[in-house]
Amino acid sequence: MLPSKSDHRAHLKRFAVNISMVILLFISALFTGIYLNHQKALDQELKGRAQALFNSIIITRKWNALHGGVFVEKTPGMVSNPYLQSPDITASNGKTYTKKNPALMTREISEIADKEGAFQFHITSLRPLNPGNAPDTFERQALLSFAQGKSETILKEKNGNATYYRYMAPLFVEESCLSCHADQGYRIGDVRGGISIRFNIEKMERALVLNKLLLALLFTVTLASLLGIVFSLVGSLKKKLAAAEETIREMATTDELTKLKNRRFLLNRLAEEIERATRYRHPLSCIFFDADHFKEINDTYGHEAGDEVLKTISTTAQGQCRLTDILGRYGGEEFLMILPETEREQATALAERLRQAIEHQTSIADHPQIRITATFGVACYSPETTVPQPDRSVIINQADAAMLEAKKAGRNRVGIAP
Ligand code: GH3
Ligand code: MG
Ligand code: MG
Repeated sequence: MLPSKSDHRAHLKRFAVNISMVILLFISALFTGIYLNHQKALDQELKGRAQALFNSIIITRKWNALHGGVFVEKTPGMVSNPYLQSPDITASNGKTYTKKNPALMTREISEIADKEGAFQFHITSLRPLNPGNAPDTFERQALLSFAQGKSETILKEKNGNATYYRYMAPLFVEESCLSCHADQGYRIGDVRGGISIRFNIEKMERALVLNKLLLALLFTVTLASLLGIVFSLVGSLKKKLAAAEETIREMATTDELTKLKNRRFLLNRLAEEIERATRYRHPLSCIFFDADHFKEINDTYGHEAGDEVLKTISTTAQGQCRLTDILGRYGGEEFLMILPETEREQATALAERLRQAIEHQTSIADHPQIRITATFGVACYSPETTVPQPDRSVIINQADAAMLEAKKAGRNRVGIAP
């Protein structure tokens, strides 16, 4: 049996839902991957920038430390480093020079960078000589983690509307530091503090938000397009399937040679019509007819000519049918006509008309000399007189028996079942 239309619809719906889920998962994974990759690349870029800044200040400090601090001319307003024992010297030319050690130089460069709006350095330690170098919360936690062996710390910090990238790495005591700090108990390799770097990443964050929006838009458009394609494909598949199903249904109930309904269809339909006749108290008639001496036609003119005869009988019988009558090929050269709401007299008259039409038929392709006749048997079921409702085979047998009686009586005639 063919699956019903609703079965197909349910299958296709399930198929469309499953495909949609797969597409959704795939697109989600793809876009999440793109987003995370972009985020990772951005984080790497920020970290690289911070590391480069850190390294450049370390090298500058190293240069300063290698010279044991550098002297610059003390200009008016310039304050000498209060944490150095004797920061000022007077040269032979009478000018005063003051010493800028690595710590002071770091702070001053940081102040310039800050003013320029580029970035900030902060040299700090858990035990600063200068209270101005005391660590803030991030720096304190970073310094504590360096003591545990961590090599760098990163934080994205919100401050009002701005977002800052903060990076901090430890400062190790090097040989060049000892010239000034040896008496403070410094040892080479010790962590003596750290330098934290801070720069504004507002622009980057904004670009990231924009990128997120763009990805979300792209995600929606891609998903909608793919789902649209899936649903339109499923829609056209549904139509094609319905058409194919219709063809199969048609083929399953059609006789290939005559294109009339086949025996299976006739038997099902007769059972339905008997039920209907009983329910509505309407008469139902059947005409069973069989081509006369058909074997002879086959034997004389060949099987193909026989086929042509069968087709001719079919079209002739069809020409006599009303819209509500059901005509089919019962088998071989036998036909059955089911006539709903038809009394015995009307059915007999129709059989007679049909008999005459076949008898006068002369248009057999390539064989105009062939004369055909058929013998008919009429049976009628009337719910008013017949109780209980008969089986379909009973009515067919009655019509067949009436037809056989008419054959015996000389063929080309109509027999009527009692
Ligand atoms: P009667 O008048 O008693 O009905 O004799 P008949 O020759 O018509 O009946 P019989 O049952 O002896 O022969 C029927 C023949 O119909 C035999 C069979 O080969 C032929 N036949 C059955 N189906 C087809 C078909 O599809 N095409 C052709 N060409 N012949 C068919
Ligand atoms: Mg026969
Ligand atoms: Mg026959």
